[in-house]
Amino acid sequence: MNIEWEKLGFEFRPTKSNLRYTYRDGKWDDGELFETYDLTLSVASNCLHYGQAIFEGLKAFRCQDGAVRVFRPDANGERLNSSARHLLMPEFPVERFVEAVRRVVADNVEYVPPFGTGGSLYIRPVMIGTTPQIGISSSLTYQLIFIVVPVGPYYKGGIKPVDAMISLDYDRAAPHGTGHIKAAGNYAASLYPSRIAKEHHCSVALFMDPKTHEFIDEFGTSNFLAITADGVYVTPKSPSVLPSVTNRSLMQIARDLGMKVEQRPVRKTELPGFKEVAACGTAVVLTPVGRIFDGDKVYEYGTEIGPVLKSLYEEMTGIQHGIRPDRHGWLVTV
Ligand SMILES: *Cc1c(COP(=O)(O)O)cnc(C)c1O
Repeated sequence: MNIEWEKLGFEFRPTKSNLRYTYRDGKWDDGELFETYDLTLSVASNCLHYGQAIFEGLKAFRCQDGAVRVFRPDANGERLNSSARHLLMPEFPVERFVEAVRRVVADNVEYVPPFGTGGSLYIRPVMIGTTPQIGISSSLTYQLIFIVVPVGPYYKGGIKPVDAMISLDYDRAAPHGTGHIKAAGNYAASLYPSRIAKEHHCSVALFMDPKTHEFIDEFGTSNFLAITADGVYVTPKSPSVLPSVTNRSLMQIARDLGMKVEQRPVRKTELPGFKEVAACGTAVVLTPVGRIFDGDKVYEYGTEIGPVLKSLYEEMTGIQHGIRPDRHGWLVTV
C-alpha cells in the first residue's frame, strides 16, 4: 500500500475488504468480509431492470488523538431505512448498521488517511434487489454491501468557491422526483443536467422545484444553504430535498454559535440578496459557491470563502477530527 494522502481526490480505489450481508427468507445474515470487488448476480436481478438500489455515504476520520471515529453513522442508518421503506426494500436495524460500519472500518483501518492530511475514509453502503424476475414486483432477496474508499476533497483546490448553474432542462432533469430518497435512479437522472452545467464551466447544477421552478431545491449532490445580510442561516424546506446529515449538523452548529436558522421554502428571487452561499454534504463537506448562473443572469458571492461559512466549516471539521468538543455525541469510535 503506497498512498499519497495529500493528493487524494474523490475517486474509487480498492481497499483490503468490503462487507456483505444477504437478505433471504425474511432475514439478514451475519455478514461476511470479502477481499474481492466482484459480485455474482443474475442478469435478471431486480436492481438492474427496476432499480431497487439505494445507497448511503458517510465518513470515518483519523482524529488528533490517533483514534478513528465515524461521524453520525446512526443518522445514515436511519436514512437508509427510510429509503428502503419507500422502495419496498427490507430495513437493516440501525444498531446493526453502526456495528457493520465499525467492522468494515476496523478491517480497513490502515486506509484511514492520517490526521492533518485533510483526507477521510468514505464509507459507501449500497443495497440492491437481487431476485431474478421479469414482472414488476419487489425483490425477495437483497445484498447490503459496505465498501470503503480513502478520499480527499471532492472539489480540488481546498475550500475555494465553485460555480453553479440553475438547471433549465426541466423536461430531462428529474433527479429529485423521489429526491428525498438516496436512490441510484435519482442519480442516473441527474447525470444529463449535470453534464449541461459542466459544459457551461460550472461544477454543479442547482435544481429548482419541479412544479413551479420558483423555489430552490438543492444541488445535484448536495444541499443548498445561504447566509443572509442579517447573518441568518437559510436552507430550503422541500419534499424533494434529500435530508442531508451534514446540513442538519451545520444547522445545529449554527444555533450553537448563536445564529438564527431558517428551514423554509426559498425563492429563486432571494438569490441576489444572499451574502454567502454554499453546497453541503458528506462528500463536498461545506463548499462555498462563488457564482450562480441563471440563464443570462449571474449572482456573485465572492472569490474566497466568506466569514460565516468559514466559522461553520472550521467548527464542523474541528468536531470531526476531535479538535473541537463533540457536544452532541456525534462521533462513534471504531
Ligand atoms: C447524499 C446527498 C446529500 C448530502 O447528504 P449528507 O447526509 O450530508 O451526505 C445531498 N443531496 C443529495 C441529492 C444526496 O444524495
